[in-house]
Amino acid sequence: MASLLESRFYLTADCGGRVETSNGPDGHRVWACSSCEMTGQGEDNGRTHAAGCTTTGGNLPHDHWS
Ligand SMILES: [Zn+2]
Repeated sequence: MASLLESRFYLTADCGGRVETSNGPDGHRVWACSSCEMTGQGEDNGRTHAAGCTTTGGNLPHDHWS
């Protein structure tokens, strides 16, 4: 099981950030996206987020640059 406990990361779709996954305190995998600052649970969910996250590619979900 030790090999499953390591942290790893996935580049986001536009390579402008990355989703880092690690073990939460209760043993669930948790992830945090450095690009859009979303967080969640589950290795697969984190990887899926990374594949669809293009926050830094100009498709901003929030218009806080106004
Ligand atoms: Zn993201």
